[in-house]
Amino acid sequence: MSENCIFCKIANGEVPSKTIYEDEDFRVILDIEPASKGHALILPKKHYTNIYELEEETASKVFVLTKKMAEKITKALKCDGFNILQNNGEVAGQSVFHFHIHLIPRYKDDEVGLNMESKESPNYDLEEVKEAIKNISIC
Ligand code: 5GP
Ligand code: ZN
Repeated sequence: MSENCIFCKIANGEVPSKTIYEDEDFRVILDIEPASKGHALILPKKHYTNIYELEEETASKVFVLTKKMAEKITKALKCDGFNILQNNGEVAGQSVFHFHIHLIPRYKDDEVGLNMESKESPNYDLEEVKEAIKNISIC
């Protein structure tokens, strides 16, 4: 646990939350300021600031849980679609610095603004970008 981390306190049950699922490693709660009906957050009980700190074992478990929670929420709320969102760093919109995954049910004609603006022609060379990333070893 990290001191003064609200999500550590929530994940470990020190601060109450609207919990929709809990196991040994994770707690899944409803977001206090939901983007849509059923917007939920998967919180690991252990503190990781962001995806870069996440252990591989937790990373594997969290995506399996993400799939199961998407199914569970979809069944319960009969949403029409689903977004999975995970922010790292202030510039990416992270405001609570304890790793979490957003589960965002989507409904026809909802006005949730998650659409990305895409640039038609980037002002950098895609080939260079491809090479720069490809050359970094991941194992
Ligand atoms: P971030 O911007 O870090 O990706 O997402 C943080 C999310 O946590 C926001 O959607 C915000 O509404 C939610 N949140 C912040 N504090 C609390 C809290 O105390 N309880 C709950 N349930 N959600 C919170
Ligand atoms: Zn924490």
